Amino acid sequence: MIFWDRGLAPSQSRTAALRFHTARAGSFTLRQGDQPRADAHLPSPLPRGGWWATRACPLCLALLAFLLAILPASAGQLDRAALESHFPPPLVVGEKDGALPVWPILKQQAGAYEVFAYAFESVDLAPIPGFGGTPPDLLIALAPDGTFRDVKVIAHREPVFLEGLGSEPLFAFVEQYAGLSAKQAIRVGRPNARAAGAPPQTTVDGISMATASTRVINQSILASALVVARGKLGFGAANVGLSVQAKPGLYEPLGLPDLLARGWVKRLTVTNAQAAVAFKGSGVAESGEGAADAVLTDLYVAYLNVPTIGRNLLGQARFDALMRELGPDNHAVMVLSTGPADAPENPVGERFVLGAVPDRLAVSQSGLIVGARDMAVERRDAGLAEGLPPGNWSILRIDQAAGFDPSAPWVLAETIVRERGQILSEKIARTFPVETALPADLFTRAKPDDGPSWTDPWRARAPELAAIGLMLAILVPVLARQRGLVAHRRAFAAFRLAFLALTLGFVGWSAQAQLSIVTLVGLVRAATTTHDLAFLLYDPPSLVLWAFALATLLVWGRGTFCGWLCPFGALQEFVALLARPLRIRQVTVPAGLDRALRQLKYGVLAGILGAAAAGSPLADSLSEVEPFKTAITLSFVRSGPFVAYAAGLLVLNLFVYKGFCRYLCPLGASLALVGRLRVLDWIPRRAECGSPCQLCKVRCRYGAIAPSGRIDYPECFQCMDCVTIIHDPAQCVPQVVDRKRKRRSAPHPMAVT
Ligand code: SF4
Ligand code: SF4
Repeated sequence: MIFWDRGLAPSQSRTAALRFHTARAGSFTLRQGDQPRADAHLPSPLPRGGWWATRACPLCLALLAFLLAILPASAGQLDRAALESHFPPPLVVGEKDGALPVWPILKQQAGAYEVFAYAFESVDLAPIPGFGGTPPDLLIALAPDGTFRDVKVIAHREPVFLEGLGSEPLFAFVEQYAGLSAKQAIRVGRPNARAAGAPPQTTVDGISMATASTRVINQSILASALVVARGKLGFGAANVGLSVQAKPGLYEPLGLPDLLARGWVKRLTVTNAQAAVAFKGSGVAESGEGAADAVLTDLYVAYLNVPTIGRNLLGQARFDALMRELGPDNHAVMVLSTGPADAPENPVGERFVLGAVPDRLAVSQSGLIVGARDMAVERRDAGLAEGLPPGNWSILRIDQAAGFDPSAPWVLAETIVRERGQILSEKIARTFPVETALPADLFTRAKPDDGPSWTDPWRARAPELAAIGLMLAILVPVLARQRGLVAHRRAFAAFRLAFLALTLGFVGWSAQAQLSIVTLVGLVRAATTTHDLAFLLYDPPSLVLWAFALATLLVWGRGTFCGWLCPFGALQEFVALLARPLRIRQVTVPAGLDRALRQLKYGVLAGILGAAAAGSPLADSLSEVEPFKTAITLSFVRSGPFVAYAAGLLVLNLFVYKGFCRYLCPLGASLALVGRLRVLDWIPRRAECGSPCQLCKVRCRYGAIAPSGRIDYPECFQCMDCVTIIHDPAQCVPQVVDRKRKRRSAPHPMAVT
């Protein structure tokens, strides 16, 4: 197995026109009693984000449209030499197909070359972006019967494998497909699912901590194999994995006239006159032989699996033998030609090669050709139904892999060929179809009602999604009713710690739903190369959290996510609790340096997204500035330098509270930028905030309150410390002073002696 990475190949590009709207808040109404004093300055009625809405966003979108226009899409690049290294002698790499990017791999068999497999790169046929934003590229070898001969990883950018688990587990994962059939709906199970009893023909073992990536890779393999199966193997339209069987107990003795009358046996009759009309204008000389209404070809067509058809046409013994030979889920179609055996128009006459794919007959469904091959059964007429006219016949076998659905209309077409010209003659073909539509109640249909593959993780992770939904449902009213939240200081502190513990333990380590800049990198790559966002659907918990984070960004700003739902943020808060028992004093970063350092995270963000937009793998390396993969996704089970970096950031956090969040985190930077569009200034302020009172500013460990008392929302983590203070008459300095003044000025009762 080999692995290499490579750049993008030139291909067509696309442009997109995007529009963006921002919502603005109306004036904010304060209920009486919400604030301690009438002069408290409450959420500002000023709309937010005007500059971004009017200037920056259009600029960003114009840049994005430009990138969409100039950047190439992904494409496979294996050439003949590379394929020959994968398929060495005695295998031979044939000529690349003209219509599909598929190479036949040939093998010599009894002196002739036969197709051993069709080889193709998944990225050419099903470029489904992974979580690194680019589609994985897999070399797939598919046998003519739809069996996977081999699957190899050519290139991938799945973050969890790159510098994480390493690529070896991925290589082992794709090796499981060898021997499985593309006609089955293959699902990714849990690790060791097959050993635990999952059907080995339809299940591959997943990889723990890489569930979402393996599902994308499974989908890439199946989707690209299906394209080849349809194009090269004769698979049907959309019935792969569908099991449609004739009901075995339904039998009714009927003669040929009754079957014809019901349309269960169809007849295709072409007269000389009809053929002449079909070839008219093609330059083919009109045949002067025979009367115009003389029959040129006369075929009876019947789907034999239905007992009322098959038993009545073949007789009981022959029908039973045929069904045994066919096996379950395969189909048999009889074509009986009543014309002379040596007539050139007879498609199953003397020139017909037994056991071959008939060159003059074709079965199709939904416009796609269905692979059918003669079964080479003995052509004795003995036992055939009485009244069946004598003639030549063939029974065509349609394999289940073809996805043929006999309960849906299908067509058998006969091709009649004529020659044009005398010296350099040219063959002109015309087809004559006959459609069969059998009643659906003759069949049982069994299709796993499980929808597209991305629905698998949504079903499998339903309990996690429900738990995350419950967490969010608790958080929203709690944050919305801030006064009630902070009324009981101790209860609030306990609630916050419990919530953060859930965020770290459940959302982060268990559900693996740590949001990451890697997703934004994936989005940029999807916008610039693949134009496909389907990869997001394979990680439902993260998608739900992204949706929630975006919604709350526009209402409250970045603090809802960063202060409550970021697992690494929660981990830092817990580590920071150790500072006091360890007697570590927090360092106060000088204001000027603090301001400068805060800009750093925006630079990191620009670097990562810029590299992603340029298609550079540097984006993946730069994304490692996030310690999330090390600390949360892989639970510190990673190589030394990465563990040292993540641990170092946690130690830094003991001295500089949430130093990583405030200065480095590119995800936090992106949230802060979008958070500028928020519609509410929801943290209450008083006229005295900033002048003269500086208590909240001093207490805010994030430095998110300006000396003027203004809240710097892009830096606010919604820790609620300042909200607690302003609602607490025993802490809020102006209220304490006011109370004291009132007490002093209150008239003292005269002492009576
Ligand atoms: S700044 Fe980054 S690490 Fe900190 S809480 Fe926000 S997303 Fe998490
Ligand atoms: S104390 Fe600072 S971080 Fe906490 S809510 Fe107030 S402004 Fe935001």
